[in-house]
Amino acid sequence: MALERTLSIIKPDGISRNLIGSVIERFERAGLRVVAARMRRLDRNEAERFYAVHRARPFFPSLVGYMTSGPILVQVLEGEDAVRKNRDLMGATDPARAAPGTIRREWGESIERNLVHGSDSPETAREEIGFFFGAIDVCDRTDS
Ligand code: ATP
Ligand code: MG
Repeated sequence: MALERTLSIIKPDGISRNLIGSVIERFERAGLRVVAARMRRLDRNEAERFYAVHRARPFFPSLVGYMTSGPILVQVLEGEDAVRKNRDLMGATDPARAAPGTIRREWGESIERNLVHGSDSPETAREEIGFFFGAIDVCDRTDS
């Protein structure tokens, strides 16, 4: 299985509810390593560009409002099969439909306020990591 990197975001509801540690604990317990992290508050333009794929969806304006409503924690996670592993830990988009024990099932409040983002493929992961981080920001943790 391939060593991969993926982008994770703890969204504004996760930050305001002080759930950073609880979420990262899930990642670490599953064998994912944080290799970059930064707290940011997105402006409207950045949120629109990040979720550009959803521009035509009816929920887009609300999604942009939610993602700009407070700081977010952006992280690069590394590990075997990291993209899929992170998506499995997150659970389905709608917390009500997410499997028991997943992050969204545990803490998500609605299909919009679902606490975390994760890249959905290795290609998307590369693009999304490049959106937030330069090569110099990502640490090599192969030996640490
Ligand atoms: P993410 O991209 O944030 O990891 P996802 O891949 O599970 O989530 P997407 O379909 O890419 O789901 O939707 C992006 C985000 O838009 C969701 O995480 C959620 O915050 C919001 N969203 C998705 N569908 C809806 C909806 N029907 N109503 C309101 N908000 C939605
Ligand atoms: Mg998505």
